[in-house]
Order: sequence, then C-alpha cells, then structure tokens
Amino acid sequence: MQERITWSKDWLSIYESPFSVYDKICYANVITQSEFFKNFGSSMDSSISFLLIRGLDHRKIESKISYPFLTQFYTTITNLSEDFLGYKNQTDDFFNKDLYYCNFCSLNAYHSLFFQFKFIKECPFHLEPLKNNCRVCNQPLIYTFYKSSSISQCCTNCNEPVLLHQHSFPNFKTYTKNEIKSLDVLDLLNMDFEQKQILKGTLFQGIKNMSNKQDLNFVLYCINALRKYYSH
Ligand SMILES: [Zn+2]
Ligand SMILES: [Zn+2]
Repeated sequence: MQERITWSKDWLSIYESPFSVYDKICYANVITQSEFFKNFGSSMDSSISFLLIRGLDHRKIESKISYPFLTQFYTTITNLSEDFLGYKNQTDDFFNKDLYYCNFCSLNAYHSLFFQFKFIKECPFHLEPLKNNCRVCNQPLIYTFYKSSSISQCCTNCNEPVLLHQHSFPNFKTYTKNEIKSLDVLDLLNMDFEQKQILKGTLFQGIKNMSNKQDLNFVLYCINALRKYYSH
C-alpha cells in the first residue's frame, strides 16, 4: 500500500458512519478492502461498539491519515445513544446490526449512523424509507466490513457496491445539520435537559424493549406526554 493516503476533512458529513468513511478511503486510494485489513487489522475487540468495525486498529488509521476519526465516531455514537441510557455500557442495543441505507444518500457514497439507529426508519435528509436489502438482488445486508478484493464494500451475493462513489468522487457531497428535514430527528438533537431526564429516568427500560417496533416520533410523543403529566 502507498505511503501517503489521500483524505480530505471536507469529505466527512455529520453522523457519517465508520463503514462509510473507510469505504471512501479505500475507494479514493484504490485500496482493496483486504489490503486495508492487511495494513490496519488488529485483534478483535468485542468491548468496542460493533459500529466502529471490529478488527481494525483505528488509532493506526488515525495517525496514518492525521485525522481524529475515533473521537469523531465516539462523539456521534454517544450523541445518539447517551440520552437513552441510564448507564453507558449498552450502546449497541440502540443500533441495528443489519445495514440500513438511503437510496439517495448511497449515490453520494454516504452512510450515516442515523440509519443504524433503531428508532430512525427514514432518511433524515430525504425522508425516504431506509432499506436493508441489496438494490440489485435483494439480499439482506449486514453492517460489517468484508475483507474482499474490491475497493468498495459490496453485496456478497451479486457484488453490487453498497455505496456508489463514481459520481461524487473526488468532490463528495457532505451533509450538514441544516439539511436535516426530519422534524423528529431535529427534536431529538435539540432535546432539552428535562426531556433527556424523562427519557433516561422513566422511559429507558420500556423503550429498550420496544425499540424494533417503535419509531422516533413515538418516543418523542411519550416524552412530551410524560412532561405534561409531571407538570400537573
Ligand atoms: Zn438520504
Ligand atoms: Zn446483491
């Protein structure tokens, strides 16, 4: 693999997933996924979130690319999960192990941690229902990084890339908070202290058990109903 790796901080969108960032790095530098693992592989550490892609030495990637990815990823994961948690060690309960993506975002090589969050069922930027099947052969996709001989993560059945880079590289579109159209997601990101306390203190156990069925709108509805109840 080459000495220098090309990366631009302008390529990073808000809430971009490690899956998406590493896919971009491989594509932009024409590094196969198996070469990427050869260079940056480490022993599997099941104490870190699966969202970080286990089996990679993230510190080594950071220092090679001179960008603090790890801090960025942790901040994002914490932002989405900590308001739901009375305690911190069950972050992964709030994220899907299946890979969910938005048709429109995938054309811009963007995959978001928003999409993996169990309560979010549509893309916050396009309001498009999230999918977890290959767009060509319909095979279910999994949030993981395969050590393949391709420069993009692909469907293991038909080799269709999950994220498409050719139309956006090297000027990847980046998504910002201003482009979020989902009012529920904005409400989640803008929750005040009292709402967070209600969520953590009262709703946490119930929400944890129903997280596959309920969406964010329902969670926000419950928080606000409880707030009204407490204020009387
Ligand atoms: Zn989208
Ligand atoms: Zn496929």
